[in-house]
Amino acid sequence: MLKPYETELLGRVEPGFFIDGRWERPDTRELFNVHDPSTGEIIKSVASATVEDALRALDAAAGAQQTWASTPSRVRSNILRRAFDLLTARKEDFALLISLEMGKPLAEARDEVDYGAEFLRWFSEEAVRVRGDYRPTPEGTGTIVVTHRPVGPTYVITPWNYPLAMATRKMAPALAAGCTVVVKPAELTPLTTNYFAQLLAEAGVPAGVVNVVPTSDPAAQSQALLADARLRKISFTGSTAVGTALMATAATNALRTSMELGGNAPFVVFEDADLDNAVQAVVLAKFRNTGQACTAANRVIVHDSIADDFVERLSKRVNAMKVGRGTEAGVEVGLLITPKARDNVSRLVEDALNNNATLVTGGKPLAAPGNFFQPTVIDRVPPNAALMNEEIFGPVLGIFRFTAETEAVELANKTPFGLVGYVFTEDLHRGHRMINSIDTGMMGLNVGAISNAAAPFGGIKLSGLGREGGFEGIHEYLSPKYTLLPHQR
Ligand code: ADP
Repeated sequence: MLKPYETELLGRVEPGFFIDGRWERPDTRELFNVHDPSTGEIIKSVASATVEDALRALDAAAGAQQTWASTPSRVRSNILRRAFDLLTARKEDFALLISLEMGKPLAEARDEVDYGAEFLRWFSEEAVRVRGDYRPTPEGTGTIVVTHRPVGPTYVITPWNYPLAMATRKMAPALAAGCTVVVKPAELTPLTTNYFAQLLAEAGVPAGVVNVVPTSDPAAQSQALLADARLRKISFTGSTAVGTALMATAATNALRTSMELGGNAPFVVFEDADLDNAVQAVVLAKFRNTGQACTAANRVIVHDSIADDFVERLSKRVNAMKVGRGTEAGVEVGLLITPKARDNVSRLVEDALNNNATLVTGGKPLAAPGNFFQPTVIDRVPPNAALMNEEIFGPVLGIFRFTAETEAVELANKTPFGLVGYVFTEDLHRGHRMINSIDTGMMGLNVGAISNAAAPFGGIKLSGLGREGGFEGIHEYLSPKYTLLPHQR
């Protein structure tokens, strides 16, 4: 049952789509339901945008593109800064909304609001700092001038696991660069994005610059938008299967793409590591968002000589974790987003145990309602088990024991993914060796949480391409333009 304040908050969220500065909810559109995943209760119904609606959204984005691109960057910056201030002031509402539709613990939802808001602040600062470059031609006959222009109308597809932060991480740099956007939130969590679009309009984003088209048929909408030559860019966060298929489609119109796809992060603990720190960090890196994060520690690779100690300290901590509905006090572990996701986690656990791994704690789904799963630790998982090869996306921590550094590196890199790696050692030289030998786009040295708006987030291999945040982030939405200034006619 929703509390009165929750009902009132949900009542403030627009239940349709946002095109050219107007909210629409025509009676003729199919509705799709948003659930509280911990109870299955329908908390709101949203009108599903059709392909025609999405194309109208692109009309609006394409129509607004030139004016937005030529709007002074200081003006774009000020709008983003106002959005940061509004979001920060409404932190509690956004956190509650995220927790209600997605199920994460409220404390984590608050962290998501802080993290998501930082992209608005960072890119409000970056908007006015896009620098060009000039250089003489080697022949000495002219000057090469390089400037940067917005890529153009951008299609943004976000996942359900961070419904606010994934939207701001894409929209803030796009808007800062001077691109207009059509946003498709995940169908499981459209409410946070709609509420955020309401906030952006209040912050002064002009009509047509931001359009939001939630839909229950993402494939049809995406195909239609990607086929339209006015679209110039797609930015996607989600599964590798969907992302690579979208890249193939995007190739037809030679679109710029930014892809944040799956992860399979190694978390390596050496014998000289500060164990208390490593245990605290692995709990954070694994159980954050109930394991439903692409940065989650997926394969914990621990030196045999300290593994017993590590597992004992870890299991004590994990046993003490409270599981429950995100809005309940003291909850550290929430639920899995769907029954299918929970069943997949069960399958991975069973497979590991069938492969002679040792169950230390947890291991079972909890009774309905809600797709809860016990926080789980499994020791001595062999490298061939599915748990060591697939993205777990759940509260299950599998441990592999190693003896030689080369073995740890080999296992860490034995994956088609390359998003993030975590290494724990007090040996500076070994730390540097590991940073250089683990094939990922990001590393945490003696730390289990690395996301920061000022840093370039992104991966290599099947984890995708492009970077979000940092100085790099805005360039995903800019194209360099070179002009030759000859010195003589
Ligand atoms: P997950 O497994 O984490 O849900 P998905 O890749 O399925 O990851 O979802 C991420 C985003 O991609 C969501 O917004 C979802 O609606 C969207 N999506 C899913 N299938 C397609 C598709 N065929 N075309 C375009 N977008 C899709």
